[in-house]
Amino acid sequence: MSFEYDVIVAGGGMVGAAIGYGLAGMNRRVLMLDGADTDFRAAKANFGLIWAHGKGFGHPAYQRMSLQAVKDWPEFAMQLEAESGMELAYERNGGLNFCLSEDEFNARTHHITRWHAQTPELAPSTQMLDRAELNRRFPSLRLGKEVAGASFGELDGHANPLRVLAAMHQAFLQRGGTLRSNHAVKAIHKLSGGGFEVLAGTFRARAERVVIAAGLGSSALGPMVGLDVPLRPQRGQILVTERLAPLLPVPASGLRQTGEGTVMIGVTQEDVGFDLATTAEGAARMVRKALRIVPDLAKAKLIRQWSCLRVMTPDGNPVYAKSISHPGADIALCHSGVTLASFHAGAYAKALIDGVLPASLEIFHHGRFNVQKTA
Ligand SMILES: Cc1cc2nc3c(=O)[nH]c(=O)nc-3n(C[C@H](O)[C@H](O)[C@H](O)COP(=O)(O)OP(=O)(O)OC[C@H]3O[C@@H](n4cnc5c(N)ncnc54)[C@H](O)[C@@H]3O)c2cc1C
Repeated sequence: MSFEYDVIVAGGGMVGAAIGYGLAGMNRRVLMLDGADTDFRAAKANFGLIWAHGKGFGHPAYQRMSLQAVKDWPEFAMQLEAESGMELAYERNGGLNFCLSEDEFNARTHHITRWHAQTPELAPSTQMLDRAELNRRFPSLRLGKEVAGASFGELDGHANPLRVLAAMHQAFLQRGGTLRSNHAVKAIHKLSGGGFEVLAGTFRARAERVVIAAGLGSSALGPMVGLDVPLRPQRGQILVTERLAPLLPVPASGLRQTGEGTVMIGVTQEDVGFDLATTAEGAARMVRKALRIVPDLAKAKLIRQWSCLRVMTPDGNPVYAKSISHPGADIALCHSGVTLASFHAGAYAKALIDGVLPASLEIFHHGRFNVQKTA
């Protein structure tokens, strides 16, 4: 049977857009069906860190994947900027995770040592910097008196996530992909001769393969192709200040200064279901911590607060899986889609074309959530 498309990607958020962009660059005819602006869309409300340091603690495969993704980001960004003609405001000058007491610093040192030990084949990418060393490296950074030091991931960076998303859409189209917004997928049918028919309202399209990458919307789609992955939303709130003179030379966990000069302060981690409210309590907590790190922020006006929902699997680690009951259907879910965009557009898109996920991805199958408890 011949199809109009090789692959239909359900979802045009941070993960779907990266996969679609990657596939379209590998000579595949790709249709990307995206939902509505009113959908939950972490792609349009996230913090913009491209970050590996500390990620995948207790999960070396996720640690390796995150590190490779940040290593691949410079080339990914260069290509994406060249193809889309958009500036991503991507910088990779490292990233800090501040410690607000000697005890915190010692605990973080222990944590990072154990994190490095998980992947002994990789050169250490994160160092602990005490306060004196922080002052030496970043003389313009006026630290709060409680700051004892920080871990510093030399591969980390940040970008404007709205531009990253827009650029992936733009470059996808330029690579010959077809994007339909406001086309939420409602049904996926397996065809008897192989392949799928996908319905979005009155729109129908057929393809040999389907990839579900619809963030929290994937819960409804996965079971249609035997890929029922448990997901939960986790609310994150973010604050933004007015534009300020440079005060943060590199991004930090929960604190970064954008190219325009605004400072983003974040982020909460709240299990409140699908409630998108912003709260004074969340704002107060984030501001209190930010002021302990950079007291000069006290002079800044806050101009915005928003919240968005993370796409969380039960253990917080990504899911990549192929359907057994519906060969040709895949699902991709993660909570750090900006960081992993280089992976989704690169190695993951390539694996989809090969039709076999590499052995290194087997550990990310959602079958891990079905382990029977023994009495
Ligand atoms: C507060 C916050 C801060 C974050 N900070 C960072 C960070 O600093 N760095 C980082 O790497 N990650 C960060 N993230 C995570 C990152 O934003 C997400 O990992 C990423 O957006 C997930 O991409 P996604 O495509 O799976 O989902 P989303 O980006 O949410 O997109 C889902 C898309 O699927 C579409 N959709 C839904 N249902 C359907 C359907 N039935 N058919 C078709 N389309 C559908 C929606 O319209 C939407 O466009 C943050 C997230 C939050 C909430």
